[in-house]
Amino acid sequence: MSEQNKIPQATAKRLPLYYRFINNLHIQGKLRVSSKELSEAVKVDSATIRRDFSYFGALGKKGYGYNVEYLLEFFRKTLDQDEKTPVALIGVGNLGTAFLNYNFTKNNNTKIEMAFDADPNKVGTEIGGVPIYHIDELEQKLSEVQAAILTVPLAEAQNITERLIKSGVTGILNFTPARITVPEGVRVHHIDLSVELQSLVYFMKHYPLDTDEE
Ligand code: ATP
Repeated sequence: MSEQNKIPQATAKRLPLYYRFINNLHIQGKLRVSSKELSEAVKVDSATIRRDFSYFGALGKKGYGYNVEYLLEFFRKTLDQDEKTPVALIGVGNLGTAFLNYNFTKNNNTKIEMAFDADPNKVGTEIGGVPIYHIDELEQKLSEVQAAILTVPLAEAQNITERLIKSGVTGILNFTPARITVPEGVRVHHIDLSVELQSLVYFMKHYPLDTDEE
């Protein structure tokens, strides 16, 4: 999308965050929002918000703020909210099961449509309304799916990744600790929850936040 190309990546990353908040305001019947209100709600400083929003073509007016309807329309269009993106989940363990139950339906255009596992006790069942197929059926079932969530054991991650890519997947949300290798053109976002937790605790200890600030 040409409009989206002009948005810097750092701004683009905040889009879903803004969208969720603006959508909630819309549901509450609010017509406008100030950058200060936005800033407090999404925890992004108001200078950054003003700069981000100028990329969206939204110019806040003094004493008025931003038009909620305009922003919502912009975010819907930019994030392709009208077009649902089907997602597959591989590995229905503890984490995978939690995602299937959660299923990202709130204010979101992504939906896990199918899941795969190697365990015969899980295959053929459904969790959160999502059917679980055998991993052997991956290539056959994946035809429409371009995005996948990876929650398999570490040792399986690379092999499954290669099969996903061969089946046309171009984006992987990797929850395994494996640093998977992918060809150019495939996007991997890596979320290692135990590393994140460890990092949080480390920062809490070594970089305590200045509580006098507020
Ligand atoms: P989690 O890591 O989500 O807490 P867990 O500890 O319950 O899960 P793991 O051993 O990490 O289980 O496996 C995650 C899931 O991946 C399990 O449901 C397992 O059956 C499945 N799995 C293992 N190997 C494969 C494979 N080759 N293909 C698909 N699924 C697999």
